[in-house]
Amino acid sequence: MQLPIYMDNHATTPLDPRVLEAMLPYMTKVFGNAASRNHAFGWEAEQGVEKAREQIAKLIGASAKEIIFTSGATESNNLAIKGVAEMYREKGDHIITQVTEHKATLDACKRLEKQGYRVTYLPVEADGLVSVEKLAAAITDKTILVSIMYANNEIGTINPIAEIGKLCHEKGVLFHTDAVQAVGKIPVNVISDNIDLLSLSGHKVYGPKGVGALYVRRRNPRVQLNAQIDGGGHERGMRSGTLNVPGIVGLGAACEIAMNEMEAEGKRLRELRDYMRQKFENALDYVHVNGNMEHHLPNNLNMSFVYVEGESLLMGINDIAVSSGSACTSATLEPSYVLKALGLGDDVAHSSIRFGLGRFNTKEEVDYVSDKLIDTVLKLRELSPLYEMVKEGIDLEKVEWTAH
Ligand SMILES: *Cc1c(COP(=O)(O)O)cnc(C)c1O
Repeated sequence: MQLPIYMDNHATTPLDPRVLEAMLPYMTKVFGNAASRNHAFGWEAEQGVEKAREQIAKLIGASAKEIIFTSGATESNNLAIKGVAEMYREKGDHIITQVTEHKATLDACKRLEKQGYRVTYLPVEADGLVSVEKLAAAITDKTILVSIMYANNEIGTINPIAEIGKLCHEKGVLFHTDAVQAVGKIPVNVISDNIDLLSLSGHKVYGPKGVGALYVRRRNPRVQLNAQIDGGGHERGMRSGTLNVPGIVGLGAACEIAMNEMEAEGKRLRELRDYMRQKFENALDYVHVNGNMEHHLPNNLNMSFVYVEGESLLMGINDIAVSSGSACTSATLEPSYVLKALGLGDDVAHSSIRFGLGRFNTKEEVDYVSDKLIDTVLKLRELSPLYEMVKEGIDLEKVEWTAH
């Protein structure tokens, strides 16, 4: 076992060596521009791109023509949201999303608000899921787009996407989903889920960074988008720019591997995840899982270790790469807005850890990580006056603190 241990697979995943193998020829010998239509160099590059389009489409139940390549899911989300908003401006000016979306979605919506669009940010329930009833109540005849993520990147909750898609189609509203954390991890099907636009990213599925895709439905309904990058009219005019051929080939290979191995990998990671959770719950009191354990990604575990200070906890496990419930925005340490949306207090949010298991994590690593974490929590609690008071049966809510 090698240190440090990487267990932050929601942030990014390592490149699968098989993906690298597929990409290598396209970085050297097959260097053509996929848009060069009049010679073999271009044709060969184009073949690689078209094969990848098929591989990606197959993983999500789409057809190849519905896949638009982008520089990643940040761009895909921007293209979907701003592209629809601008294209359907005459039909309406209202967009619905939820407060726990990725910043790429929230910030695209904020930009549109500055331009005069109206955005509803739905709250989530205490388990992190969005309520379909609240969504239904928010839709008006001016609503043009609903953007709700498939699975959350912090707490791993899986939204009722098929229900949301059905509702949107009944109401004649387009439905976009940021499916970055779901694609390749759980079955996703744009037809049965009634999805009109779907964002995915290469580096979250053991593919390369800087490449992603947007699924854009071509039938029932045919979705139109206002391009956000103008140029040579690549990707059916929706996204100009010379294609990142090696990246695209890698994304395609990563999707094919994910498709073949999803079931076995999901089962293995779910077992490891449940084993780790069990270890924490057996060894420690005042720990709880954030999110919804039933509608949950197999590779995610987000737990609060109450009465320990988040910073100290992370320092105690500095040979392990995980994420904390603190988001470093500029110089201040803000508690995660996702955990806050579940109703967690700042202290509890700061004492939360996101474990993101991945394809290359082993049982041995899971044991090392959980033992080290348990050890650190026990040590920190020995020094924690709050924990002492709670153990003595003092109700912290009723304590009158005095400042000196
Ligand atoms: C990582 C991530 C993104 C951004 O993807 P990039 O390809 O890194 O731009 C968007 N949404 C979610 C849910 C993510 O986890």
